[in-house]
Amino acid sequence: MAEDRFLLKDGALFDGFSLRRTDLRLERGVVTEIGNGLSKTLGEESVDCEGHLVAPSFIDLHTHLREPGGEEAETFFSGSIAAAAGGYCRVVAMPNTDPVPDSLGVIDEIRGRTLRLPISIDLSASITKGRRGSNLVEIAELAQRGVKIFTDDGNGVQSAMIMRRAFEASAASGSILAQHCEDESIMASGSMNEGELAERLGLKMISPLAETVMVARDIELCKAIGGRLHLQHVSTSRAISLVAEAKGDGAAVTCEVTPHHLLLDESYIGSGNSLFKVNPPLRTVSDIDGLWRGVASGIVDVIGTDHAPHPRWKKDLPFENAAFGMVGIEQALSVSFLGAREFVGRSAGYLPKLNIALDSIEVLEASLISRDELSWLLKVVELLAIGPRKLLRLPTEPIIQGSKVDLVVIDLGASGVLTSDLIWSKSKNSPYLGMELPLAIRHNVVNGKMIVRDRNVEVERYWR
Ligand SMILES: [Zn+2]
Repeated sequence: MAEDRFLLKDGALFDGFSLRRTDLRLERGVVTEIGNGLSKTLGEESVDCEGHLVAPSFIDLHTHLREPGGEEAETFFSGSIAAAAGGYCRVVAMPNTDPVPDSLGVIDEIRGRTLRLPISIDLSASITKGRRGSNLVEIAELAQRGVKIFTDDGNGVQSAMIMRRAFEASAASGSILAQHCEDESIMASGSMNEGELAERLGLKMISPLAETVMVARDIELCKAIGGRLHLQHVSTSRAISLVAEAKGDGAAVTCEVTPHHLLLDESYIGSGNSLFKVNPPLRTVSDIDGLWRGVASGIVDVIGTDHAPHPRWKKDLPFENAAFGMVGIEQALSVSFLGAREFVGRSAGYLPKLNIALDSIEVLEASLISRDELSWLLKVVELLAIGPRKLLRLPTEPIIQGSKVDLVVIDLGASGVLTSDLIWSKSKNSPYLGMELPLAIRHNVVNGKMIVRDRNVEVERYWR
């Protein structure tokens, strides 16, 4: 049997434009036939997708792969396996590595290590040399060499003047400035969200203002200078309001939320569980609801994972001393959907704006998920799959005969308790260990190859 010819039978296909029950014949990643009642031809593998949602594979604009310099935590090899397991076909690697990708030479050298992997890895470059905040990198030159996203992630760019010049370069090159919004001069050096809970635990606090002040500043700069601003891991309800206003004014601003900020509030920290230490910190339930309202109204453009692997010795410490960050690229869909489910529980009847006709949701209604939850699921899939393509200016078109597609098959009936042996990432610093998570990535077909088959990543076959 050819390894790159599939007949996906009886799935519900969602491409961002419609939801329909259909069979799909796929040959080397190209849809050769689409419609109902297709039968298997010689040399083709039939894949039963009954009760499953079929969608474009996901793209993550915010992944820490740690290579070079942090290979103890993750590598391009291990991180791409984790990403594949999560349903991804492409990720953008963050530049807080050693060396920092801040010049053509370093970028070419690092890129060489990513080219043979079964999923695409885009390198971001830093905005400032060495991510030190004082000297701009050659944005125009790097953009010409294919760098689409510039970010000092791990830190925000503190100087407004440097950002002003970065926006000038962004306007000239069309590249995206992705900002980790954290003004370090306003109570940013703590470890937990400012409030009663942090006070009770006696933990140093991080003010929500550290985020919102920089969001407001960068929106102003972007509107005045031009260029493209992407706000990473927005975690406060107030920041969503600022983005809403900026979008209303027509500013070229986009924003991202993470799965963990969509599900977990600060109370998960309990008496100081370091697995829940992350930056920006977990906020309040009312912030979570603000993020979901932003998702519903289209203010939020993408879900980015901020997958942040750390070796055990960096997390297995008292809360104040532990590293910030959590792994999560493998559970991004499940965790986001669980967050949606809890939001539905708090705000019944509140539904997201979708492109598709709502009665088409009937094709999925045999499954155990309620109709309201299904519309949220589709919205989540849109933010994982379609939103990032729009940002990167990749094609987003209805899937028809002749379309070249990477596809993920989502098992709607699956659920299970996460244990560390189920995590593909080299690091196991997951806050979801022991939690029952809904849904599963059953298959992931990238570049015509089924790199995830029956929830198992085909490492031997495609990564060696
Ligand atoms: Zn960040």
